[in-house]
Amino acid sequence: MRKPLYAANWKMNKTGAETRMFFEKFLSQVQPSSDADIMIAPPFTSIIDAIDSDESERIIIAAQNMHFEAAGAFTGEISARMLNELGCSAVILGHSERRHVFGENDVMINKKIVTAIDAGLMPLFCVGEKLGQRELGKTQEILETQVSEGLKGIPEKDLAELVIAYEPVWAIGTGRTATPDQAQEAHLYIRSLLSTLYSNDLSNATRILYGGSVKPSNISELMDQPDVDGVLVGGASLEPDSFAAIVIHD
Ligand code: PEP
Repeated sequence: MRKPLYAANWKMNKTGAETRMFFEKFLSQVQPSSDADIMIAPPFTSIIDAIDSDESERIIIAAQNMHFEAAGAFTGEISARMLNELGCSAVILGHSERRHVFGENDVMINKKIVTAIDAGLMPLFCVGEKLGQRELGKTQEILETQVSEGLKGIPEKDLAELVIAYEPVWAIGTGRTATPDQAQEAHLYIRSLLSTLYSNDLSNATRILYGGSVKPSNISELMDQPDVDGVLVGGASLEPDSFAAIVIHD
């Protein structure tokens, strides 16, 4: 049985003060539950405010990115050890904006996943095809490359905490959500890849989230799909009311 995970990616939004205000309002609406996990990924500069605001530690606080090296001349970058010290317990890796705006490739993302696992950070590994690739019928090919290259050389015993997010690039921030059938089809394919690359046990245990214009009005139909184990939410996670409505949907 896979525990649902509702994850918020705030991208480059919210100062520390805004983060504290969000948490106050959000936590007043969402009761603690052992039935589902909630994750919030603020910008680096607001992580400490998020951790301080969540006194009862009900929320998994994640970073949105991280460098794969331990330390050194990498201006503007943040290491896993720095995230550990803040009290972060997870990190989003391979988000489509990192891949397509900042030029990250599968090799870098693979190194980041290895580093995150070594540091005890839960990796939320994002994959997904662009619109042109879907239209050319290449969705499965792209997913196969991203999943197999991203996890290359990582033994199954290290993947107990792995979470994968299927985020079709054409659905991110566009208001155009994948249909529940499209999401289910891609998730099932990713699960079959995990079976082939590793084992049925790992495939059955790994949570696969859907991301791309998730909102309160479409969460239920997405979560009704048997292989959708949660969601990664950008725009609709910025308002406490709307993220709370997503988390406590029917
Ligand atoms: C995201 O940033 O991962 C995302 C899915 O964004 P949005 O919900 O705004 O499409």
